[in-house]
Amino acid sequence: MKPTTHKTTTALLVIDVQNDFMAGGALAVPDAEEILPVVNALIASADYELVVATQDMHPGNHASFGLWPVHCVQATLGAELNPKLLRDQIQVIWRKGTDQAVDSYGAFFDNTGKTTHLADLLKAKGITAVDVVGLATDYCVGTTALQAAPLFKTRVLLPGCKGVGIKPDDIPNMITQMRAGGVEVIEG
Ligand SMILES: [Zn+2]
Repeated sequence: MKPTTHKTTTALLVIDVQNDFMAGGALAVPDAEEILPVVNALIASADYELVVATQDMHPGNHASFGLWPVHCVQATLGAELNPKLLRDQIQVIWRKGTDQAVDSYGAFFDNTGKTTHLADLLKAKGITAVDVVGLATDYCVGTTALQAAPLFKTRVLLPGCKGVGIKPDDIPNMITQMRAGGVEVIEG
């Protein structure tokens, strides 16, 4: 009898590394550019079966505008992935927040809990684990990781993330919440 193999097949999820979330953008995350070398090294590594980049992608009258400044409007430069990202090695671009009435911090479910079917795509490709990096730790990265944790072995690699931190505790609180939700948070 052959021994059972437990091969882990991992996808890298690069969350919202878009012009509007970086220096000069409509909703710039402090020091967001610092993650680029880290994220690019991960993209270029042989560690991942699949690399997925998400894009926050809103219609011009999106429901989130008001709570947030107008950002990542479809067909604008601000919505595009940062040009320094190793785009050629990203196999899947996954757009979220496209519904006018509903926001979607997470890549797997929108803010009402409706599935985006990203999990189905990953499972169809045999993915059993995800590493999450990108912007921003206390919103779309954290929410995506918390949604992934019941479905995949989930890690967040903090050197590849930056947070917004509107309140000083927002980022540490999200890290605590992620750990409580079964996410392995890697500090360095
Ligand atoms: Zn948004």
